[in-house]
Amino acid sequence: MRRSRWMGIAGAAAVALPLVAADWKPRRRVEIATEPERAPSYWMCTIPPLPKFPRLDRELQVDVAVVGGGFTGLAAAYYLKKLEPSLRVVLLEAQRFGSGASSRNSGGVRARFRGHDPSPSAARGYQLLQTFAETEGIDFDLAEGIPCITLYSAAQRCPNPDLTGDELAREIGSPFYATAEVSTANWLHPGKLIAGLVEANQRRGTELYEWSPVVRIDRGRSITLHTPGGRVTAQHLVLATNGYTQQLGFARSVLLTMHHRVIVTRPLTPAEWERSGLERWPFRLEAGGYYTHTVRSTPDRRFFYRHVLGHRAFEGTSWQISEREREIGRRELLQRYPWLAGVPIEYEWHGVTARTADWWPVSGQVDENIYVAAGYNGSGVMPTHFFGFLLAQSILGNPDPDLALLRPPRTHPRLPGGWLRHLAFQGWIEYRRWRGSRTPAAQAESTGATPQPLDVAV
Ligand SMILES: Cc1cc2nc3c(=O)[nH]c(=O)nc-3n(C[C@H](O)[C@H](O)[C@H](O)COP(=O)(O)OP(=O)(O)OC[C@H]3O[C@@H](n4cnc5c(N)ncnc54)[C@H](O)[C@@H]3O)c2cc1C
Repeated sequence: MRRSRWMGIAGAAAVALPLVAADWKPRRRVEIATEPERAPSYWMCTIPPLPKFPRLDRELQVDVAVVGGGFTGLAAAYYLKKLEPSLRVVLLEAQRFGSGASSRNSGGVRARFRGHDPSPSAARGYQLLQTFAETEGIDFDLAEGIPCITLYSAAQRCPNPDLTGDELAREIGSPFYATAEVSTANWLHPGKLIAGLVEANQRRGTELYEWSPVVRIDRGRSITLHTPGGRVTAQHLVLATNGYTQQLGFARSVLLTMHHRVIVTRPLTPAEWERSGLERWPFRLEAGGYYTHTVRSTPDRRFFYRHVLGHRAFEGTSWQISEREREIGRRELLQRYPWLAGVPIEYEWHGVTARTADWWPVSGQVDENIYVAAGYNGSGVMPTHFFGFLLAQSILGNPDPDLALLRPPRTHPRLPGGWLRHLAFQGWIEYRRWRGSRTPAAQAESTGATPQPLDVAV
């Protein structure tokens, strides 16, 4: 081979190898163990503080260990103890219970999987959430029939428009959207659901530990979990770690983390409330599926807004929100709702979701005695509860017609591999942002009266 050819190969290897090596790093490093404490969401700030639970500082031998104290893990532990009270069940959470996506979401609940697909199983999942509230006497403000609009920009085709752009400008104070479809949604208070699940687990005798990240898993006939201060040996393991699952070395090729930012304003004045149209249209979703925004009202009449931050290379789970990202968020918000300029923001937080290629959760058995449920594609409030229940049924060997819903990683389509996929996905997000910044509404905003900055007071 010619010398120049060898030099070319060596040069390419010198560039590629560090990237490949970097992609391997997270397989050995559990970033969650060193993550700073997450800022609490509006939801957690508006309920009485949850009881605090100890760090694991000893060795335990249990029947089932559940890792991850969000909706999935809390539901799995609860149903294991409810269905088989004699089991010894431990639940290990890296930070506070609910401090992952479960307390950071928009609270929309659908009797559907994947955001669409009504089915008898999805109806059963929704019913299970209602039964949980009744059985345990817990109120998490589940409300049905909330007016909901799905909003389309001029570039998107709305199949059955119910509202025109002019009507939207009048009714919700937005010059941005061209059409909308009207439907209804259900919602709940995510903080109250977390509190209820924690309380129900306490009552049923689940052993609860906070600030106890699992940093190593030794597989075998029994499983040993290591935390910085203790160790758990278990017959069965449930991984309920959603967007953090890849860090533990599971489902890496089928799960993709996606980061969001949520802001909540101070309570709106009567005039702003009128302008917002939130009384009539309190829940709003953008059409588009990937790079979308959610708006809703809160019980104390604030404006709640979720937008996408993007992907972080190598499935990182923390995201320091930069001034540039705040500025992009502000620009997109004012494109949609210019009258919000100058309304102070009182809450801001970041949240991680996990995506799959076919929009179906990664769920079920991954090994003889290891189970997982993760990757709800941003629609997890109902499915997390149901899949927690199904994992409990599966571990207990109980027959259940809906066990067929479980789809372990090997049955999922793989996401295109390695670091390149982050470039591709982030590139797509940047393109959407660029396109968004060139809409007529954005241009009008940039040439009109200079809006005051949105003050972030968090
Ligand atoms: C901004 C935002 C808006 C959303 N809006 C909606 C909505 O309107 N409707 C809807 O249905 N869904 C929504 N979702 C999605 C929904 O919140 C999630 O699908 C759901 O909360 C996932 O619950 P989970 O228990 O599986 O994961 P999480 O709540 O993320 O819990 C996982 C837990 O595992 C812990 N953990 C991770 N690694 C370890 C470890 N090594 N050791 C110990 N503990 C560990 C984490 O600390 C975390 O608490 C939204 C999500 C976000 C972020």
